[in-house]
Order: sequence, then structure tokens, then C-alpha cells
Amino acid sequence: MKLSELGEFELIRRITANFPKPPEDVLEGIGDDCAVIRLPDDSVLLVTTDLLIDRKHFISALISPRQLGRKSMIVNLSDIAAMGGFAHSFFVSIAIPPGFDVEYIDEIYSGFRELAVTAGIVLLGGDTTGSETDLTISITLLGRAEKGKFLLRKGAQVGDCVQVSGPLGGSAAGLYMLRTGIPRDIAPALLSTHEEPPLRLATGQMLAGISGITAMIDISDGLLQDLGHICRAGGVGASIDISRIPLPVDLPEFCRSLDLDPTDWMLSGGEDYELCWTVHPDHEQEALRAAFDSGAHQAATIGQITAEQTITAHIKERRIQTDRIGYDHFPRSS
Ligand code: ADP
Ligand code: MG
Repeated sequence: MKLSELGEFELIRRITANFPKPPEDVLEGIGDDCAVIRLPDDSVLLVTTDLLIDRKHFISALISPRQLGRKSMIVNLSDIAAMGGFAHSFFVSIAIPPGFDVEYIDEIYSGFRELAVTAGIVLLGGDTTGSETDLTISITLLGRAEKGKFLLRKGAQVGDCVQVSGPLGGSAAGLYMLRTGIPRDIAPALLSTHEEPPLRLATGQMLAGISGITAMIDISDGLLQDLGHICRAGGVGASIDISRIPLPVDLPEFCRSLDLDPTDWMLSGGEDYELCWTVHPDHEQEALRAAFDSGAHQAATIGQITAEQTITAHIKERRIQTDRIGYDHFPRSS
């Protein structure tokens, strides 16, 4: 069977299905942004891992090694942020093909270090090897959270508000600029979002500390895909008002000048690394204030959780087709 007949998420389900059930101190195993393991003092250990590979997740010719280091860290820190956790330490495994010199690797590590200092975490190990193919970076990150003070993908309730921590679509637009060779000064903010996405650790922590928030995820694969995970985990659906999604600086003007439609990027573009969460309407403003206070100044309510188990997106009365939902490593060929 071809991988594209299954898709990424079915494949993960299939390959992980026949393993023993985790013991009872594992509060969440496979399926959330982090695994959650209860510690003897009732706090929890959070563990997440992500793999980045040249030509798939980044193009080494188009990103500086320092930015690559930063971005590899953000991809992982974002999963800790999505649980409302506190990052603790990390491990780095790296496979280096011929042609990358020592100074290049130094620069990747200076990117790791910048984010490690910002997040207050330490490097505890990893693995180093040569590679016959592409530059590959895998980071495993450990984090902590207090008992009852972390958020999962599951828990969204019908009637909850859907909120996001910031603008969507900027990273996909930045990638488009890189791929098509559009000069940086046309829309610098879009390129920066792609190269140096935001770190929403503090936002996640603030949100995990207030009541009424029912579920959270980070937007790595596009809003529809990632909100889709919240919906599937909660047995609910969502209705999104596209006109309420915060717009990245530079995006409207960029799209106007090139006659492009930003909708797809906002709904399905990946790598914005903003958070998406659901909150009881009584706590809508409190959640927005908490996000704002943590530095997420464009946080907004963008829709509602519905009983019908589909995601619809609309601008005023116009309903947008949402079958292209987000990033899948093995997209169906149909
Ligand atoms: P994220 O995008 O937040 O990093 P993913 O969508 O990649 O999360 O993964 C979803 C879940 O599946 C996570 O719990 C992850 O640890 C798990 N997972 C992904 N790939 C594998 C694999 N090859 N083997 C076991 N578990 C996996
Ligand atoms: Mg995630």
C-alpha cells in the first residue's frame, strides 16, 4: 500500500496501534502535543520530539544556520507551549552531510543557545552522525507542569469560543516569497515570521492558569488541520469567521499588490506557531486579556465550537470550501 493512501495521521495510528497500553502514570501517551507523565509529587513531565529535514522543513540554501537553530527549537518549544508547560531541558540529534563546515554547525548551535537562554532551558545530550543525504535535526524537549495546570487537545465543548494567539498565514506567505525569489523589502514582516516564528511559552502558561479554557494546540500544520485535531479529540466541530483571524503585518498589502488571495495561507498555511484554544464564553475576555498580557497582542476570537462534527469557514455569508485542510507529509494523490 502506498503511504499516500493512508495519509500521515492514519499511518501514525497504524504503526503505533499494537504496542502495550502505557502504565497508569502516563496521563497522555501518543496523540497530543506532548506525552504527559505523572511524577511522584503529582506534577507532570512533558516530553515532545520533532524532526526537521533539509528540503522538507527548511531549505538550507535559503535560511541562515542561526535561524535554522532557532526555528528547530521553536518547533519543539511550541509543543510545550501548547500544553501550558514550562520547558526544562533538551537533547539534540544531528546528521550532517558532507559540505557543511564546522562554522555552519556552530551557527546552528548559536541559534539553539539563543532560544535556550530565552526559554531558560539546558542542553542535556543528543547524538551526532554523518549523513549521506540531507542535513537532519531532531530535538527532544522535556518540560514540567503543575498538577491540573496543563491543557490537552481534548476537552472542547459545544458553544466554546475558538481563539488564537496571533496572526495566521504570515509564515506560508514568507515561504512563498523565498521560493519565488520575491525580495525581502517587499514584505519584510512575512519573511521574518517564516524565519523566526514567535515563541508562545508565556502565553500557554498564562492560559493554563485561568479557568474556562477547555483545549489547546499549537498551529504547526495550519489552522484547519490543527483545530481539526481539537475537534476530533473532543467529538465536536467548529465554525470559523475568516474576517476575524488576525492578519499578519504586510499580508494585505502584499496580496493586493500581487493579486493573491491570502485565505488559503491563513486557513491552511503551516508554521505560524501561534496557539489555538477553546474557552467557555464566560471567560472569553479574560482569556484574551491573559494572552495580551503575555505578549500576544493580536490574540482574537475567531469562531465557535459546534455540535456538527465538521469545520466550516466563512466570511460574512460566503462559505469557503475547506477540503484542503493543512499539511500532511503523505498527501492523498486524488
Ligand atoms: P506535533 O505536530 O504536535 O509535533 P504530530 O502531529 O507530529 O504532533 O504527532 C501526533 C502524535 O503522534 C504525537 O503524540 C507524536 O508523538 C506521535 N507520533 C508521531 N509520529 C510517530 C511515530 N513515528 N511513532 C510514534 N509516535 C508518533
Ligand atoms: Mg503540536
